[in-house]
Amino acid sequence: MAFGNILDGTFLSDTFSGQSELPYVFITHYHSDHLTGLAKGNKRYIISSPLTARYLHHIDKVRHELLYPVLPYYRHILPEGLSFSACPANHCPGSYLFSFQYKGSKILYTGDFRFNDEIEEWLREQGEFDLVYADDTYYSPRQYKDNDFPPQEEVLESITTLVLSKGNRDILIGTYTIGKEKVLKAVSDALQMPVYVPEKHIKYYKIQGLDYFTSDKQQTRIMGYRIGYLTNEEWTRGISVERHMVIIPTAMTFYFRKREGYYYIPYSEHCNNTEFRRFLSIVYPSRVISLNTGKKIDYPPEQLDLLKG
Ligand SMILES: [Zn+2]
Repeated sequence: MAFGNILDGTFLSDTFSGQSELPYVFITHYHSDHLTGLAKGNKRYIISSPLTARYLHHIDKVRHELLYPVLPYYRHILPEGLSFSACPANHCPGSYLFSFQYKGSKILYTGDFRFNDEIEEWLREQGEFDLVYADDTYYSPRQYKDNDFPPQEEVLESITTLVLSKGNRDILIGTYTIGKEKVLKAVSDALQMPVYVPEKHIKYYKIQGLDYFTSDKQQTRIMGYRIGYLTNEEWTRGISVERHMVIIPTAMTFYFRKREGYYYIPYSEHCNNTEFRRFLSIVYPSRVISLNTGKKIDYPPEQLDLLKG
């Protein structure tokens, strides 16, 4: 869920719906909930990462004249005086966070992100913000442990160990159109085989320039399918524990019904609770608005005193 219109209609981020004074839309990443309202007749300039621009051109047929791919870490200045900088968001490939400066206001817009050291360093360089819009998907100011899934590297290592221990079973992995590539790559590297994905999905990986995918099932026993497809009741009946293992990478492991042969692995491309708390400690004392609810985000009560000190 993205909360789009920033600075009271001055420009748009992650939505094409709504009025804006400046003719720009900033797109943090190529997930459909961050592209709402994108239509054939779009006349706004779209500022994004080079990869997101490639998706917009090849999939949505946005004309080159409207696409403004930008490199991260530089400060870019638009003719109207709006200046901005981007930082890789550690979400899906091509995802960015943006920091904006316009008419004396400094705003951070995270889009979806998973906090890491690079983001921390970039944020510290940006200085204090007047307003922050943040992806708080798994943040809870009061509960601590529930949403504290492990770092990605740790999860990827355990996936590698798991697939190597399972003999010659077919490995089915839950994916999105874009996102979770690190899981597919880890399994592909461990077994030295490409990943089969259905023909209609392979173009998304080709746009990224990834070469470990195939649309020929005979070449491999690793298969990537949409998570909804792999957890579909009817389809799961065809799964045999002797011949298959199914990996569902998701932070919401508790959400799915337990089934034999299914492994719900806490791999996420959003911040866990600890990471989001660290993020809050860096942007403090900015006003932080949730991109998921549009409401103000509370700082964790037990940390607030420390943060103030
Ligand atoms: Zn996303």
